[in-house]
Amino acid sequence: MLRHMCIYQLFYKASSSMDTGSMYQLRNLINRRDVTGPDDVVQKFRPHQQFLEDVTDSYIVAACLDVMEEGCSNKNNIEFVEKISQKVMDCFNLGVTENSSISRIRNDLEAIHADEQKLFAMRVNDHYQCALCGKCFTSLVWFKKHLTSKHHWKLHQANTNEHCNNAVGQFLFMSLLFRDTCDSYKMCDGARSVCNAHFEWLYDSALKHSKYKIWLWRMITYTLSILGFRESFEYKWNISVNLNGGIRNNIPNDNAVEIQVNNIKRELNTQGANKSYESAKQICMTTQVIHAIKQNLMRTSRTAKSKSTRPEADKSGDIMKMVEFLRQKGAIKNVCWNSFQNFREPLSGINAEELHAWIGEQKRIANMFM
Ligand SMILES: [Zn+2]
Repeated sequence: MLRHMCIYQLFYKASSSMDTGSMYQLRNLINRRDVTGPDDVVQKFRPHQQFLEDVTDSYIVAACLDVMEEGCSNKNNIEFVEKISQKVMDCFNLGVTENSSISRIRNDLEAIHADEQKLFAMRVNDHYQCALCGKCFTSLVWFKKHLTSKHHWKLHQANTNEHCNNAVGQFLFMSLLFRDTCDSYKMCDGARSVCNAHFEWLYDSALKHSKYKIWLWRMITYTLSILGFRESFEYKWNISVNLNGGIRNNIPNDNAVEIQVNNIKRELNTQGANKSYESAKQICMTTQVIHAIKQNLMRTSRTAKSKSTRPEADKSGDIMKMVEFLRQKGAIKNVCWNSFQNFREPLSGINAEELHAWIGEQKRIANMFM
């Protein structure tokens, strides 16, 4: 939910109504009245999510059509799909290696870490002793100043890259990343969830979502280093649960806990004034068992289940309309949202020094408590 809100906050702007292909303009084109902007994402989650999916699909379909017009041989199906998706990625510069912010952050963090290692090598008990002249310092800041001014050391200075980025490519990158994460949870593909968590952690750092930042950091560190091989594998394997059976029906564990808590609350509310600590305990212990017995009875007596899934609305008409609109002025890769000319991608705003300090702090916490 938070992910979708991020995208709406960044890209859904009334001022972009004149930009060809912007979210706001496409929303008006297909007249999605239930899509109203970032403030209502939580209240009206489904229409907002659906709209985001449809816009992403339209861009991809339009890019595919462009690529196919250029000519693409289809000897082998898999090869064909691979080739065409690579070309679509190139259209919007979606490759990770082309993302200059990520390599900048990585280089900065490595350099800052190397500097810190050198400084710690000169640490004696609770103070720093200069290896070159023997002078002692209790404060790290003064020690750094001494090294740079007296001995002409060059400590790494993190810089933020200031150049503007293409908002369309960034929009698609984020949208596809979040779509892939949702899919990995639905398929219980823990390895993919953890892989995507690296990016999401960076986005949460950039957009200052401290709760998710810590949560994703812990998820990554647990699977990479804190847990052993076996536990790490189990963690990834059990990243989501399937309550109703069927492929793509898994939900993340925290949602499952929420559902369970709601069930317990509902039961508890039926007791009115009679509820007590004991009765709550009873309910907590029995709700799952009762549910299992009920399911079993329904199965043996072949009771018709009421469908809990909602019918899926066909949005292909809307997508076709958007694709036609996007392609009317030539190739999709030339689409540019003019009001986003000064757009900076979120990752370019990350301060590597702050991030390094944050990681150091988390490491200390992990050392003490985990
Ligand atoms: Zn010195």
